Amino acid sequence: MFKKVLVANRGEIAVRIIRALRELNIASVAVYSEADRDSLHVKMADEAYCIGPYSSTLSYLNIPSIMSVAEISGVEAIHPGYGFLAENAYFADVCESSGIKFIGPSSNVIEVMGDKVRARETVARVGVPVVPGTEENLDNLEKTMEFARKVGYPVIIKATAGGGGKGMRIVNTPEDLEKAIQTAKTEARAAFGNGEVYLEKFVEEPRHIEFQILADEHGNVVHLGERDCSIQRRHQKILEEAPSPVLTDELRKKMGDFAVKAAKSVNYNNVGTVEFLLDKDNNFYFIEMNTRIQVEHPVTEMITSIDIVKEQIKIAAGEKLPFKQKDIVIDGVSLECRINAEDSGRNFIPSPGELKTYIVPGGPGVRVDSGVYQSYQIPPYYDSMVAKLIVWEKDREKALLRMERALKEFVIEGIQTTIPFHLKILENEYFRKGDYNTNFIHRRIEIKD
Ligand code: ADP
Repeated sequence: MFKKVLVANRGEIAVRIIRALRELNIASVAVYSEADRDSLHVKMADEAYCIGPYSSTLSYLNIPSIMSVAEISGVEAIHPGYGFLAENAYFADVCESSGIKFIGPSSNVIEVMGDKVRARETVARVGVPVVPGTEENLDNLEKTMEFARKVGYPVIIKATAGGGGKGMRIVNTPEDLEKAIQTAKTEARAAFGNGEVYLEKFVEEPRHIEFQILADEHGNVVHLGERDCSIQRRHQKILEEAPSPVLTDELRKKMGDFAVKAAKSVNYNNVGTVEFLLDKDNNFYFIEMNTRIQVEHPVTEMITSIDIVKEQIKIAAGEKLPFKQKDIVIDGVSLECRINAEDSGRNFIPSPGELKTYIVPGGPGVRVDSGVYQSYQIPPYYDSMVAKLIVWEKDREKALLRMERALKEFVIEGIQTTIPFHLKILENEYFRKGDYNTNFIHRRIEIKD
């Protein structure tokens, strides 16, 4: 096992990883930007090094700086968390060639799965259903028009290198196609430095169902069941639950088998997530695979009692998975609310600033993963997530009551948060019945947008 690991991230996920390292008796090394001197991950780690100014390009994305710290501190591995360098194949490659273990899949796997078109092709080859879509860049308008006509409108244009719900455009009529392609390309270039886009059939009112994969370096692959991440705003997840309220055991087995197949198609190792869209008739389609730990991993941990971050580190150290698919038992229901420093009453504008009061909920079945504390000043430079509130209960009805109780117990003063918005979702009768899809916020929740 490793003796010392560098955490190349900040915020709640850096804290989460440091906790896992400590329980595995591994020393932790934090890195931070000048804006993060007072951050919790810096206080909690065994060692901490400043890697640059507030700008993430010059700090959390600064590969030479991070590699220098890795060398000076003498770590054997780097955990990238999510975001920043987590899906950067070049970074994984630099680690590999420097003799430092990248805690994630190998660089070539990140490269294949990071390109959504290649990912679709790869999994389709082994029989995993994918959304009907184009195979290449949309340079030939005539061909694209013909394809869209064949699959039928609406269609969606997506960035090949996409992430975070950015660079997507829904197109309802052939007249709008050309302009939408141009806009999507411009957006994709700005967001990902890569203007390639492709086109998919737009699945109407689907559920977003994703499977957590664990794969060791000895060819063993299991899934830990699904998460339902259909509660989204602008294609970004805001509340997740596991298991999905609509999956039967039979459908879970079928989709889970395909998720494992998708992972095996690239000789996947480490943790990852296979994402599907599920339509009203229970047809499901692969959309992408994320090659990292995800924000919403705790809901899976709560229902399986498996510490995914610890497993991830153990896999990277070369250990075999300690269980087989038949050993995975799903128990109870878990929900997660992403509490963001945003004003949901004012178009979700960011609300950074000082946390004058910060009192977290507790009691049975309540977990808070966060990188902040009372009196902490939330910097305006990074993502706006303050905390993840996660609950567990025996059944969904009880879990909803527990989440409502915990949200009301959470006291955050000094900034605006999305807690009132989450309470609105929770009191919605359709949500309570489990009757929702990716259009839920748009259709069922009133927001000033
Ligand atoms: P990203 O990598 O940016 O998160 P995804 O491909 O995972 O992008 O898609 C994010 C969300 O966008 C999905 O959960 C879904 O709500 C919506 N979406 C993506 N592709 C389609 C599609 N073909 N049809 C309908 N909705 C889609």
